Amino acid sequence: MKLYNSRTRKIETFTPLNDNTVKMYVCGITPDGPTHLGHAFTYTVFDVLYRYLHYKHFKVTYTQNLTDVDNEILKRSSSAGEPWKPFERKWSAQFLKDYRVLNFLMPDHYVKASDTVPEIIKMVKVLQEKGFAYEVSGNIYFNVKKFPNYGKLSRYNWDQMVMIAAERGGAPNNPEQKNPLDFVLWQRSSSEEPRWPSPWGWGRPGWHIECSAMVRRYLGTQIDIHGGGHDLIFPHHESEIAQSESYTGKKPYVNFWLHTAMVMYEGEKMSKSLGNLVIVSELLKKYSANAIRWVLLSHHYREPWEFRYEELIQAEKIVAKFKSAKDSISSNVQTSKSSDFETFKHLMDDDMNTPAVLKMLEKTPSIKIMDSLGFATGDSLHHKRVGRR
Ligand SMILES: [Zn+2]
Repeated sequence: MKLYNSRTRKIETFTPLNDNTVKMYVCGITPDGPTHLGHAFTYTVFDVLYRYLHYKHFKVTYTQNLTDVDNEILKRSSSAGEPWKPFERKWSAQFLKDYRVLNFLMPDHYVKASDTVPEIIKMVKVLQEKGFAYEVSGNIYFNVKKFPNYGKLSRYNWDQMVMIAAERGGAPNNPEQKNPLDFVLWQRSSSEEPRWPSPWGWGRPGWHIECSAMVRRYLGTQIDIHGGGHDLIFPHHESEIAQSESYTGKKPYVNFWLHTAMVMYEGEKMSKSLGNLVIVSELLKKYSANAIRWVLLSHHYREPWEFRYEELIQAEKIVAKFKSAKDSISSNVQTSKSSDFETFKHLMDDDMNTPAVLKMLEKTPSIKIMDSLGFATGDSLHHKRVGRR
């Protein structure tokens, strides 16, 4: 199977680091608002990859986090006039509900940042002892000057990084930092904020460290695949690499970095700050999960695209056709042409060319292939039940 590796910027043959075992980690959501189509695109792509790796008989362990401790949650809950905990719980529950309705397989480990605090503290402590991190009155920062490869994944220059960090949760002007790109590993908390006792007083994790700590705990020192949306490359994934490789002394932390393209709406990137979100639970009131999956998979995961309702209406017609034809398709499955499966594999092995697979399905429907792509066919061959935790 060939996949585009953001680390090398090449399409490469995917081979697991160890035998037949694939260790895969995907950055999860921050529960500070409803699930939107950009989220759905990312998790559909990795759901399909997870299913396909199983299909190819790899032994896959898939871990995903939930960033339930985050400055954005505190900001948004306070502007909504709600305490942060029930606010976070409400959106976490909504995400899981959408996750089930969209027919995503649950990861093998679905972990909250708040359940990983001891590992995070241990990691921060070691980074400080090794001289990669420093403390300023209860805040611990990673010193990017101690990690010469900082910027290697994104390939941005220093000034670009400073600019983008300011837009994405960094604080280049924070006077406590030695360098503008240093980032917080642990921060002090007031009594109203989420907080845990630590060697540096009461505090909470920074954004990037939870993923490094979870990867280490649930998957190990080096992993095969790390995924997320394209906008996580910098500073999030860049910072994960710096922390993890400094901590373990081993590289690469991640063999294949996979990133999903941004989804646009009305001419702009779909984002909370622009307020042009297409909300999944709203779409589900009118359209089926299969139609949504069809639209998402009809776009290649690396191509930015703009969502249009016409496409969804069209997709609903296509999936309805499959439904009405289902019985005859099912009875044909045993005898269905093996050449279809060969084409399916060939296309998926080519950097997950799902748009071409869907074109093929439109011509020659196959319940088994639909099933492999995670469409709810009522005929699931998967041993794993959706929603199992
Ligand atoms: Zn992450």
